[in-house]
Amino acid sequence: MKLPQKYIAQCSTVLSLLIASSAFAQTALPAYDLLLQQGHVIDAKNHIDSVMDVAIKDGKIAKVAQHIPSSDALKTIDAKGLYVTPGLIDIHVHVYAGTGERNSYAGDNSVPPDGFTFRVGVTTVVDAGCSGWKNFEDFKRRIIDRSKTRVLAMLNIVGSGMRGDKYEQNMADMDGDATAQMALKYPGTVVGIKTAHFGGPEWTPVEQAVIAGTKANIPVMVDFGTDRPTRPLYDLLTVKLRPGDIYTHMYSGLRHEQDPTTLGPSKAFIEGRKRGIYFDAGTGGGSFKWSLAVPMVKAGFIPDSISTDLHIGSMNGATKDELNVASKMMAIGLSLQEVVAEMTSHPAHEIKRDDLGNLSEGSVADIAVLSVEKGHYGFTDMQNTRVDGTQKLVAELTIKDGKIVYDLNGMEAKLWNEPLDPNAKYASRWTTFAPRAPDTHNAPAKEMPH
Ligand SMILES: [Zn+2]
Repeated sequence: MKLPQKYIAQCSTVLSLLIASSAFAQTALPAYDLLLQQGHVIDAKNHIDSVMDVAIKDGKIAKVAQHIPSSDALKTIDAKGLYVTPGLIDIHVHVYAGTGERNSYAGDNSVPPDGFTFRVGVTTVVDAGCSGWKNFEDFKRRIIDRSKTRVLAMLNIVGSGMRGDKYEQNMADMDGDATAQMALKYPGTVVGIKTAHFGGPEWTPVEQAVIAGTKANIPVMVDFGTDRPTRPLYDLLTVKLRPGDIYTHMYSGLRHEQDPTTLGPSKAFIEGRKRGIYFDAGTGGGSFKWSLAVPMVKAGFIPDSISTDLHIGSMNGATKDELNVASKMMAIGLSLQEVVAEMTSHPAHEIKRDDLGNLSEGSVADIAVLSVEKGHYGFTDMQNTRVDGTQKLVAELTIKDGKIVYDLNGMEAKLWNEPLDPNAKYASRWTTFAPRAPDTHNAPAKEMPH
């Protein structure tokens, strides 16, 4: 059917009136979408460590102040007694799952990120070298582009990625230039270069990784593989790596991290830190011993960043998840403020993503609302020895891009028999969860079929 011209003109007038009136309705909305009131804000980058209100608008942090009235927001959540921090960043995980490849971190050894992140306040993860320049784009299509978690990546210096010895010991597949080219194609998503698991006596993987890191202006993260006298840790940290590069598995004890006499950090660690090398927890399945962590932390050698090295071999072992690793560090003397910094602004800075890991006005509204539970807790290591603790961090609420993605105890929800939230029709502005539909509340009960 062909519509008469006059009718179309009328329709477009009505349409523009509708648009104008909805624009009017928009301006009449409160200033903020979501308001977290009276939580204890820990924002290391902005030196905030006190009770504050945090307002969010259009997925961004709009305002952090001592008092922001509820009437200024569509939705207000009372965070009294809880800690409000930037969304946590775990810079060492393995999440290239789903390819079907057995015994491979580009396959079965990896985990799907969304199952392990929001529930512990993590909003950003960095895949540490599961893919190299040859398979990064497959990883991106498969995981990065489809996950709700913000997934960033360090490219393995091995072009084929972390797929077992056949690939990872092949020096012919370690091409710094090709790796840099792929990194430069995805700036901000590829945030580092990884070298790992190398068993040979050569420096080739480290040298090629540094070539790639230098060309792409991103850090190199080192899992130093097998301990070899031809490539001592001291040379790695004082000569081979650049300031700003990252040494992961810092408490593994596998490569002379610890001074055998003092039991504190080795000379290599002390000199490396002076040079500006970052030290990352990366506790994983076999990379964390209390016999190192306890004396080294006592000597003041704490992590620059707390990460998990999450994979199928660590998810149910001693590591478990990001907050468990942080709780472990608190059990041996770190403060809550220290562990929060090590999961937010510090790792963001290490990967040159200083836009993340803070609650500055205008920043992306990724937020973790945490509780510190008190009780008796046990924390284990790779040798199944234990440290007892009295505090445990729990994620109560996780917000990603301004919207609630995890809500452990239904903080944002109304009781089922309470009246509807008058702003429920705007709920998609602050949450990913569906509000109760208005017509179901007072609907007459239907007779159910038997
Ligand atoms: Zn790892």
